[in-house]
Amino acid sequence: MTMDDRKGGSVHRRRFLAKAVAAGGTLALAPVAARAAACRPEALGTARVLKVATAGGLEVGRKSYPRTLDLRPREVVLTFDDGPLPGPTDQVLAALRQECVRATFFLVGRMAHGAPALARRILAEGHTVAHHSMTHPMTLGQLPIERAKADMEAGFTAVDQALYGSYSGTPRTPFFRFPGFGDSPALNAWLAGRGIGIFGCDFWISDWNEMTPEAQLALAIRRLEQTKGGIILMHDTRHQTAAMLPAFLRELKQRDYKVVHIEPA
Ligand SMILES: [Zn+2]
Repeated sequence: MTMDDRKGGSVHRRRFLAKAVAAGGTLALAPVAARAAACRPEALGTARVLKVATAGGLEVGRKSYPRTLDLRPREVVLTFDDGPLPGPTDQVLAALRQECVRATFFLVGRMAHGAPALARRILAEGHTVAHHSMTHPMTLGQLPIERAKADMEAGFTAVDQALYGSYSGTPRTPFFRFPGFGDSPALNAWLAGRGIGIFGCDFWISDWNEMTPEAQLALAIRRLEQTKGGIILMHDTRHQTAAMLPAFLRELKQRDYKVVHIEPA
């Protein structure tokens, strides 16, 4: 449970918590179950947690690679790139909390460096925090390889420094997404050798294009229904995405999609 859960809890939730504590402190024994149980009954909720092994490498996401995560039809993995950005990232976190769903955030190193408290809040609210380079070059795979590796390594360092105050030489969460999916066989092999998994996506919502939240919502639903789920790529830096997210999450629930949360094995 986070401070925000306690502060922002509805009356219903506060009553539940009071009862649960009175019933013998089950909250301390089962934090995940407690978090789910403390949700509004009509919330979307996280259906299950999928542990993802990355030893020896991993390439998932059908937009770039032949395979994806081990998901059933109508299961969705929510992912957000490019943050943290005060404002829209706060809005995204609020929407996720409201629906009791957990997501994966691929942070840009220099953004985490600029907003370390927000980076830590993403982690504290139960989300997976992963990596997306230091300066977000769109063509890492075409840069001189040592330059590309240096940017990626700087990103791992900046994000882990912001989150944990130190960097061990290996990212704590070994999940990486290439900006613009700009990978290369040499960089992919380098990541695989370090046990870092590469995440593409199964569909995106094109939220780099300017549009109204209404248009963004309609497009997201259209793409969702085309693919019937999978790894979805959104950007928590985009106002139009932050604005439509509450409605999009409600649509997932109404259309009987399930949210799967990914964590390192
Ligand atoms: Zn990006």
